[in-house]
Amino acid sequence: MTFQPTITIEPFRIKSVEPLGHTTLAERRAALERAGLNVFQLRADEVLIDLLTDSGTGALSAAQWGAMLQGDESYAGSRSFFKMESAVQRITGYRHVLPTHQGRAAEHILFSAVLTPGAIVPSNTHFDTTRANLQLLDLDARDLLIAEGREPMREHPFKGNLDVQRLEALIAEVGRDRIPLVMLTVTNNGGGGQPVSLANLRAVSAVCRRHGIPFFLDACRFAENAMFIKLREPGYADRTPLEIAQEMFALADGCTMSAKKDGLVNIGGFLALNDDVWAERCRNRMIPIEGFPTYGGMAGYDMEALAVGLEEVLDPRYLQYRLDQAAYLGERLLAAGVPIVRPTGGHAVFVDAGALLAHLPWHAFPGAALSAYLYEISGVRSCEIGSLLFGLKHADGSDAPAPNELLRLALPRRMYTRAHLDYVAEAVAYAAAHRHAIRGLRFTYEAPVLRHFTARFAWAETGERGGGSVEQVLARQLVR
Ligand SMILES: *Cc1c(COP(=O)(O)O)cnc(C)c1O
Repeated sequence: MTFQPTITIEPFRIKSVEPLGHTTLAERRAALERAGLNVFQLRADEVLIDLLTDSGTGALSAAQWGAMLQGDESYAGSRSFFKMESAVQRITGYRHVLPTHQGRAAEHILFSAVLTPGAIVPSNTHFDTTRANLQLLDLDARDLLIAEGREPMREHPFKGNLDVQRLEALIAEVGRDRIPLVMLTVTNNGGGGQPVSLANLRAVSAVCRRHGIPFFLDACRFAENAMFIKLREPGYADRTPLEIAQEMFALADGCTMSAKKDGLVNIGGFLALNDDVWAERCRNRMIPIEGFPTYGGMAGYDMEALAVGLEEVLDPRYLQYRLDQAAYLGERLLAAGVPIVRPTGGHAVFVDAGALLAHLPWHAFPGAALSAYLYEISGVRSCEIGSLLFGLKHADGSDAPAPNELLRLALPRRMYTRAHLDYVAEAVAYAAAHRHAIRGLRFTYEAPVLRHFTARFAWAETGERGGGSVEQVLARQLVR
């Protein structure tokens, strides 16, 4: 007989701690009022548990802090650059590595250096910054996600997959010359952190190679994607996350990366690629806007921390804990009758606020209303991913609804324990039980672009009423 634990424990112990921002209900009400009911406008000190984003918010390891003391801040030829370069090359195999301050800078450099206006760039789902960078250069960003990926309640192991038939059809329709680049986001952040299978990566790669189209990964969560492959794709259970990641990158010609995600650092990113001509153009583009090629947008100590982070992130124990954290929070919410996007992805749990607050119309922003209410009752900060964030407009300029009204509970890496997640689950369950008390929001200020960051709201007087019991809401949501 051997001891078989049923719990996944945090695979680390805590060496350095930071107090949480405890507040009273009255203090949170005052803070919310000052913030115009928009959690982006809160001060972090007013937040107890911060699940706004998993980007750059994680904890560094003792090994990373140790490495940072050895940062070489030389302008040219920094020793820290070569450490980071070899850490990136070990995983990706790409010849050229260009450090940038964030993922979006890597995107901008790549697109502006090698693409020309009017071209089409397909992906499973372009992340907001990728889409914005393409659009700023008059490039056409196309999302070709499989149909299953667009249905929040549909169970599928690889909901981030790209629809290869639609890619082939697009190439046949517009011609290879209009498509100078294909991208694939792993995991698919815009679609709920859902993974892409190696079979799909292989199929997309084969289409690209047949047509001679360069193929790049948006690799922000490559390690979480590799772990999903290990756990879900037949034939990969015995492979290490490193081996799987190497296989993923080998199918592509380059990648853009936000190190604030699976780099396990607070700031940084890179562009990595094989093609010498494109690399030279990208380096020439990078120097005036980011910096000299051996630091780009990063300090020497940041590159040291990234080199260590890229090793730590591929530890299967870390990745198992990481994915189990999201699954655990998801299960607790489902047990409390809270509708969530299934299965849970790698970095967050998404609550279906539209289904939960069925008494609110989409233009009363149920996700943002739930986010404000959740903060008010518990001090937990979350983020709306719905009609407010997407800001879609009809041709006449009036607001249009997003496909789903979601509330994202993003999990910073190595930051919160299971007790913290239990607290979050209790708070969301309380909000669900009191959902009829949650009113909709109306704008008192709306900025012309990226309105969700700066918007100010008031609680709407009365929304449309409806809703029913949690069971009725769940039943309705299951047949959608
Ligand atoms: C965060 C993110 C980016 C942009 O990275 P930044 O470091 O925030 O600039 C690009 N793509 C995906 C999938 C992301 O999650």
